[in-house]
Amino acid sequence: MTSPVWHPFTQHGLNEAIPRIVRTEGAALHTDDGRRIVDAISSWWVTTHGHSHPRIMAAVADQAARMDQIIFAGWSHEPAETLARGLTEIMPHELTRVFYSDSGSTAVEVALKMALGYWANRGEPRHRILVMQHSYHGDTIGAMSIGARGVFNQAYSPLLFDVGTLPFPAAGAEQATLDALDAACREQPAALIVEPLILGAGGMLIYPPHILTEMAAICARHGVLFIADEVMTGWGRTGTLLACEQAGVVPDILCLSKGLTGGSVPLAVTMAREPIYEAHLSTDRAKMFFHSSSYTANPIACAAAVANLAIWRDEPVLARIADLSKRQRTRLAALTNVRNARQIGTITAMELGDESAAYMSNLGPRLLAYFRDRNLLLRPLGNTIYVMPPYCIGDDDLDAIYSAIADAAASCANGSFG
Ligand SMILES: *Cc1c(COP(=O)(O)O)cnc(C)c1O
Repeated sequence: MTSPVWHPFTQHGLNEAIPRIVRTEGAALHTDDGRRIVDAISSWWVTTHGHSHPRIMAAVADQAARMDQIIFAGWSHEPAETLARGLTEIMPHELTRVFYSDSGSTAVEVALKMALGYWANRGEPRHRILVMQHSYHGDTIGAMSIGARGVFNQAYSPLLFDVGTLPFPAAGAEQATLDALDAACREQPAALIVEPLILGAGGMLIYPPHILTEMAAICARHGVLFIADEVMTGWGRTGTLLACEQAGVVPDILCLSKGLTGGSVPLAVTMAREPIYEAHLSTDRAKMFFHSSSYTANPIACAAAVANLAIWRDEPVLARIADLSKRQRTRLAALTNVRNARQIGTITAMELGDESAAYMSNLGPRLLAYFRDRNLLLRPLGNTIYVMPPYCIGDDDLDAIYSAIADAAASCANGSFG
């Protein structure tokens, strides 16, 4: 009997092998047939310090022994309070309010609803959202609406709402992005949402901090809300706690998830500046923020995130990140037969094969299988290969990753791939 499990982003009709993991530790996944797999992509960008971090797992066990789940509308609990206070301390101080949800997509949906609620409650309704070309903000209908359109969401396109799209600020064409933003802001949109410094699912596309600085300044000048989706970039990925830090930018609304619990259990927050909260503050019940999911602020998830904050407070996490960035830089520089080798913080990316290879070409799946056969979890975005390991990864594991990429690049160059 085949498994009843329907996997995400998986074409079951191709009958590709689906390894089963029984244990995780540090940068490693252990399979039920005894293999040790190096997790080169932090299990889809969530794992920060390392898998099964002892302090986080202990916090989960401890919290689970005392309390499971409670309603969060009108009730509260210590882990949620402690976490919210900790977040307002570690994040920019202008972000005074913390709203809980369960995933990056919901953090983004909440951000959009906060932005529209802000304008509606001020009596000047605005609905238009500005986005950047090639963006990814999640897979729910709202999050898809503000993300890149393509084969991924073609079937649902009639349901997706209309947005204003700015061109990606590619090297040499940055001014066009800023001009487009300035023009779009004159039409009084509700908000701009961006992935700061690097567009993840769109192909690990990097743009410079000063462009982010200028985009935020244009929004501020026009009174348009600036939403930073740091679901991937948050928690040190780009070398700083937040990517926005490198641009000296504090968003009006900030979305965090993935590394919030160190990547251990699902949790998300949407943080907001005080005026966003104040716009919903009233004796009028019709002005409250109408959003919740059943598991909002789950105590066990909050406890995991509190442990993550303690690790950030007690351990030299940024130094570890700087060291990993350096160790990746030398290995990336040594690669040949790759195009557009690029890096920001702990993330490196490059293209294999010729310019014509697109996401749905068969190069991606073949690379995936190639790396899997070498006990590596690397999941190319089409012909874009990227490395985004847990911060604890050792040199031997990094060497295994980069030598496999070097071999794959050589195969691509001599035509034995794709
Ligand atoms: C992963 C991601 C999301 C969606 O998060 P989920 O937890 O998968 O819903 C949103 N925005 C960005 C930038 C992401 O990388």
